[in-house]
Amino acid sequence: MTPQPAPCPHPDAPYWWQAAPRPAPTQGTPPTKVDVVVIGSGITGLNAAIEIARGGRSVVVMEARSLGYGASTRNAGFVSRAFKHSFGTVKETYGLPYALQLFGELDASVRAVERRIAEENIACLMNANGRFMPCASTAHLEALLRDLEMQRTYLGFAYTPVSRAEVATELGTEKYVGGAIVHGLGGLHPGLYHAGLLDAARRAGVTLVDNTPVLSLSGQRNAFCVRTQRGEIACRDIVIGTNGYTRGLLPWLDRRLIPFDAFMIATEPVAPEVMARAIPGGKVAIDSNHNALFVRPSPDGSRVLFGGLTGSPPANLMDRGRHLQTMLGTLIPSLAETGLDTVWTGQCAATFDLFPHMGCRDGLWFAAGYCFVGVPMGTYLGTKLGRAVLGHKDAASVFADKAFRTLPFYNGRPWFVPLLTRYWQRQDARTPSGAIAA
Ligand SMILES: Cc1cc2nc3c(=O)[nH]c(=O)nc-3n(C[C@H](O)[C@H](O)[C@H](O)COP(=O)(O)OP(=O)(O)OC[C@H]3O[C@@H](n4cnc5c(N)ncnc54)[C@H](O)[C@@H]3O)c2cc1C
Repeated sequence: MTPQPAPCPHPDAPYWWQAAPRPAPTQGTPPTKVDVVVIGSGITGLNAAIEIARGGRSVVVMEARSLGYGASTRNAGFVSRAFKHSFGTVKETYGLPYALQLFGELDASVRAVERRIAEENIACLMNANGRFMPCASTAHLEALLRDLEMQRTYLGFAYTPVSRAEVATELGTEKYVGGAIVHGLGGLHPGLYHAGLLDAARRAGVTLVDNTPVLSLSGQRNAFCVRTQRGEIACRDIVIGTNGYTRGLLPWLDRRLIPFDAFMIATEPVAPEVMARAIPGGKVAIDSNHNALFVRPSPDGSRVLFGGLTGSPPANLMDRGRHLQTMLGTLIPSLAETGLDTVWTGQCAATFDLFPHMGCRDGLWFAAGYCFVGVPMGTYLGTKLGRAVLGHKDAASVFADKAFRTLPFYNGRPWFVPLLTRYWQRQDARTPSGAIAA
């Protein structure tokens, strides 16, 4: 039975903001002169800023909206080791040494989150109890297990296969044919992680300025001018950490990023026995569909958080929320009558080669294009950016060396994303789990 749409008391306020409310507006005026201006107050910008400030430089973080307004406080909190490309594909295409480098740094990004949490003493409910990867079809399952076995052989990444019958021990659904648990991964509370990064930035002496969009950049390294709505800032270096919200500061970067919307809902609070039926394994889970469905318990186990319809146009957020609620009830029937509490959206960025990138263009440092692994990759590459600005050798990364491509005539407006999304949804609709998005 299709659940009746219920009222949603908290539209467009990410569930995470309940425990980590938007910080009070910053006071004072932006500085007129500083060593480094960081643009964007998400995971990337803050990790870069912390590193730079601890290296002895003066840093200001400029944020167009409230601090942490972007995807960093809107995501699902998965701390994953996942590219859109499998290890096998990367090995076939670029060779084993390169695949080992890429996946080695991907693993390092997960460790970078763990390290940041430990060093800054951030209470963000990180739980590395494994990531469940349910599969929509037998072909997906065979491919996944083949690839995980290769990753285990070459990189030592541990996993456990999950048979069709065992799926019920992880998720209360019959829509999947099996899957795998990847060990050492898990989830955190992104609102609290971001709040911890903000505290760390303050302790490091970073100046934080919110509600002040950067309008344009001019000059060159050691003599930049950053024009904002509240005056100009002279600086030696600039770091761009705007990922899915990147627009117009560096047209070269706009042409290489593909922004898209992602959507999530949180259910109303559920009783422990309801949660135990819905997500008995208590893990973060993301399925094998092209347009993946992802589900997890909130870190306190009180609600189910669910996402999908990635890449759909923003349209009416409440409609998206009700659609996701219906999808959740179809995927996990025991939740069919569960009400909706919150729906929200955020902007991500992909790249044409589906890999994250960092680098320096015209003297401007950037890291972006995380393709849905921005929690670990933003932490890792943000930290690398900071080290690069300080001139440290350990800033080297395979993601800085990759050619960063665009397509002819692409100007940063991704008109093709809704078409691609519809195409994927049609492909996915051939499987029981993929069909629920139709
Ligand atoms: C619904 C959803 C679910 C996701 N789930 C996951 C997940 O489970 N795991 C994972 O690893 N990743 C996930 N992601 C992706 C991840 O959240 C992002 O990749 C990551 O947060 C990017 O961090 P960032 O700091 O680079 O950018 P953001 O956090 O997006 O911050 C960019 C900031 O730049 C600001 N800005 C833009 N232009 C200007 C300007 N001109 N002047 C000043 N400020 C400006 C914006 O206002 C924004 O606050 C998800 C994303 C979404 C939306």
